[in-house]
Amino acid sequence: ATPTALLVGTGRGAQLGILIKGPEVLESTRRAEVIVLDKTGTITTGRMALRGVHVAPGESRAEALRLAGALEHASEHPVARAVAQAAAEAGPLPPVEDFANVPGLGVRGTVEGHAVLAGRERLLAQAASPRPAGPGRPGASAPTTSPAEAAAEAVAEPAAEAAAEAVAELPRELAAARAAAEAAGHTTVLVAWDGRARALLEVADQVKPTSAEAVARLRALGLRPVLLTGDNARAARAVAAEVGIEEVIAEVLPEEKAKVVGRLQAEGRRVAMVGDGVNDAAALATADLGLAMGTGTDAAIEASDLTLVRGDLRAAADAIRLARRTLRVIR
Ligand code: ADP
Ligand code: MG
Repeated sequence: ATPTALLVGTGRGAQLGILIKGPEVLESTRRAEVIVLDKTGTITTGRMALRGVHVAPGESRAEALRLAGALEHASEHPVARAVAQAAAEAGPLPPVEDFANVPGLGVRGTVEGHAVLAGRERLLAQAASPRPAGPGRPGASAPTTSPAEAAAEAVAEPAAEAAAEAVAELPRELAAARAAAEAAGHTTVLVAWDGRARALLEVADQVKPTSAEAVARLRALGLRPVLLTGDNARAARAVAAEVGIEEVIAEVLPEEKAKVVGRLQAEGRRVAMVGDGVNDAAALATADLGLAMGTGTDAAIEASDLTLVRGDLRAAADAIRLARRTLRVIR
């Protein structure tokens, strides 16, 4: 390979809005066979907005939004920002004590004297089953318990089991609202306070107008697209269907995303991954080819070989086509 030809290749990349870390990246770009796509911020815009507040009978929607909004104000997650913004528009946000962010699951803390949780069902169940706290601030450590382990612990401690059921038990109205919201491709946030799930917030962004075309182009290049997300399976499948992806891996915790990439590699395939979040960084580094959305976090960009400057997924297909063509010219 002549350095000049490679530089021509990377120069064309810059014109297309693709930043390549170095000429050696072209080889893995050319060889990609599977392309793992993050959902939020990669296939979708990542600009989430609150679409609905559902409460259990007798509960106040204003209180639910205020308590959840106060907590989410302390988190950078796109879901959190949508909730906090809507809550701040509705009224002043009260202060939070004992705040903890649980990556991939949600947030918790004390607001107006209530112990509040906002996030996935698994967060509610976990919070109610007491475990020895890790080093540092109690509750500040990342969750390390698998659902199976949590279940085993709950059996060992009947009191904890009862408490977990009380918090995680969904009133019928909330369960119905959740099923409808997720079937529509929306993300849902359960809000519990004082030991009960009392509200459900519905949050959504939009599929980028270029994502379906990008998936079709990647497929035409012979790549197998896989959607990978921490979000709920129903919402993930709805988004996947909208852009033409059949293979969906959902409800994956941030630290498990890299393992999923590793499993695909173990099938003997060269895996490319496109992502934008802090949560994607390890998976992007694990992939044979990591592609970051230029609109994403610094962590994702640093972990990647290639940056899609404009955050347009079609540039991933351009990059692969360009790499194949460039190396054909060189050889
Ligand atoms: P993704 O793979 O879609 O970027 P994450 O791994 O960051 O998702 O989060 C997975 C899911 O965990 C989110 O879809 C949301 O349901 C929940 N979640 C994460 N952080 C929060 C938060 N701060 N508040 C509420 N829910 C959250
Ligand atoms: Mg993302």
